[in-house]
Amino acid sequence: KGVIRLEALTRSYGATTAVDGVDLTVRAGELVTLVGPSGSGKSTILRLIAGLDRPDSGRVLVDGADVAGMPPHRRAVAMVFQDYALFPHLTVLGNLTFGPRVRRVRRAEADRRARQAAQRLGIADLLDRYPDQMSGGQRQRVALARALLRDPSVYLLDEPLASLDAPLRFATRADLLTLHRELRTTAIHVTHDQHEAMTLGDRVVVLAEGRIRQVGAPQQVYDE
Ligand code: ADP
Ligand code: ADP
Repeated sequence: KGVIRLEALTRSYGATTAVDGVDLTVRAGELVTLVGPSGSGKSTILRLIAGLDRPDSGRVLVDGADVAGMPPHRRAVAMVFQDYALFPHLTVLGNLTFGPRVRRVRRAEADRRARQAAQRLGIADLLDRYPDQMSGGQRQRVALARALLRDPSVYLLDEPLASLDAPLRFATRADLLTLHRELRTTAIHVTHDQHEAMTLGDRVVVLAEGRIRQVGAPQQVYDE
């Protein structure tokens, strides 16, 4: 569960070809880091995998199914954004139970799962806080807990550490790795930080101008 295949994936915006014929297979349980300069097409690839955007040509298969033809509730991916995308007017508990409640999970059950996810990410004592009463690192943990609650077969992480200062980024990266080892769920982690790419993934995919320039184990890619 959680195999991603990109086949000749292409997406243009006007005259800009954001993603230009990308082929890639991500194995079940693998953690792939997508690295490249700003504007190289990383976010576009994530949005195409999430089904938030459509390719001009080529396709994205998750476990053999084309995400373009899949209704949103069937897509087994969870996306985590750099800016957390929390609801500002809801507490942590409210943010964590919102999605499950929309999916008609009962209040008591939604609360129970939310507390469990919060426990796992070390934010169990913050359930009554609002987003503006927390640090960037704490907010990102809420965003991760919310992703966890979807129980996805694929996690898509769009620079989740980018807004954090250096020490917090280091700590949160370590927690992300621990979480990944526990869950063994397929994940694609986007970053423009080479050091992060070196220390995070099973494989690194280097993008430039919408094309894959290099794919390999972190050591292999950076020795070249
Ligand atoms: P990255 O995530 O690597 O910074 P993006 O995927 O965001 O790169 O962008 C790749 C290219 O596509 C950039 O040139 C960007 O300006 C362009 N682009 C991305 N999204 C849009 C959009 N919605 N409308 C117009 N251009 C876009
Ligand atoms: P779900 O698991 O159903 O995606 P979420 O809690 O992640 O539950 O979000 C529910 C919906 O609200 C999703 O479509 C999500 O994109 C959207 N959403 C989440 N946070 C925000 C936000 N801060 N602003 C606007 N929309 C949001």
